[in-house]
Amino acid sequence: MGRQGVGWCTGVPDRRSGGHAEPTRRQPAGTAMADLIEPKSFDTGVLFGRALLPEGPAMWSYSSLKEIETCPRRYALSRADYPELWGQNGYPRVPVPAAIKGDVVHGALEAIVRALVRAGCSSTRSADAVAVLRELGGYTEVAKRVLAAQLARLDGNPRLSSERREQLTRALNDWLPEAREQIQTYLTRMELHPGADAPVKAATTPGGSATRHAARRGDHPERELVATDLRLKGRVDLLSVDANGAWITDFKTGAEDPTHHDQLRLYALLWVTDTIANPDGLDVSALVAAYPTHEVEVPVPNASELSGLEREIIARIEAAEAVATSDVPTAVVGEHCGVCNVRGLCDRYWTTSAPNTAEVADGDWYDLQGTVVREHGVKSWVLRETKSGHEVLVRTPTPSFALPIGLEVRVLGARRTVDPDDEDSLIAVLTGFSEVLRLAG
Ligand code: SF4
Repeated sequence: MGRQGVGWCTGVPDRRSGGHAEPTRRQPAGTAMADLIEPKSFDTGVLFGRALLPEGPAMWSYSSLKEIETCPRRYALSRADYPELWGQNGYPRVPVPAAIKGDVVHGALEAIVRALVRAGCSSTRSADAVAVLRELGGYTEVAKRVLAAQLARLDGNPRLSSERREQLTRALNDWLPEAREQIQTYLTRMELHPGADAPVKAATTPGGSATRHAARRGDHPERELVATDLRLKGRVDLLSVDANGAWITDFKTGAEDPTHHDQLRLYALLWVTDTIANPDGLDVSALVAAYPTHEVEVPVPNASELSGLEREIIARIEAAEAVATSDVPTAVVGEHCGVCNVRGLCDRYWTTSAPNTAEVADGDWYDLQGTVVREHGVKSWVLRETKSGHEVLVRTPTPSFALPIGLEVRVLGARRTVDPDDEDSLIAVLTGFSEVLRLAG
């Protein structure tokens, strides 16, 4: 059997269903197949990388607006379909442990708070709360279940080798005791306000199928707010309503960031505008960013500031929609490219931003494009770099990690190495985490 390129984007089709696409204007819920508009095809030049671009979403959110404003191409390629690569929506993501950890803490908090509120507990220290937690299996068990669900979402991901997945699973399971502490710290500080009224059927989320209802007095974890006229929505981590107004809390697992304030102000706009969730027109009482060790209260915008924010959002959505319908999504190169999940597909990144091997410092990680010229040894290959024309010696981690001679490839995650006895030679080392994409001939 011939050698195989470990870490290759093999494009093994995976026709499993279960992708989690946002509803778009191209495919609103309940639309008949015959009514669907043909998606625009965008050729990325990478084998199995033909992208069927999404239309703009039916509703915008804080994160989708931010993403399209940062780089329209990243927005489009992240959400496109890749029928030759796999059957799920979006370009497969290389899992980022920090992001998964954040999702696990969020998910566990949501499950626990929901159960506590349902049981009428006002604090995690009460006897009732202890019984609820026991029934859930304890903090660690809840986190474990949420983690298992997160890991299951990686099934069929063609960018994730089984070896990498095992390592990731091990590392995340080892982290669970830390997750437990973090979840407990959040909950210990939290005052709960049970007493949410029974849901009253009222409306359906535009572009979706969820039934929406008024948020009556009490706590509402993971509550969706919608400003239908603005075509804007958001999901608040914890909405607490009393007779005077709403407390809006967003859990943040990372460091403080000014954009967290922007997000909370946008939630304030959503709350005062959402006539389904807030039929009595209650004000916002407080906006809170809850970090693992402390909380930060963000000033609540007054009526004139909210009007200004509304005008700003209308203009931003207009601009985003104009960009979202482009046939060739604009690529905005910047520092963000280094962590861009679709940079392997982005020609502009490779022609303008990716460095030449000679410019990279010893030990630094970088991305490399070139044509494989010849095999040099059992675990080494010579590649002619596309931009510089220089030959680079590429060392692979195992003899079975093969590169295709005569073909042009993009390598994501190579490590520059300088040989002290021959400082002028250009050497790049690949690891089990490196990824090699083949350009379509
Ligand atoms: S690599 Fe940079 S320019 Fe290209 S899609 Fe990603 S963020 Fe945009």
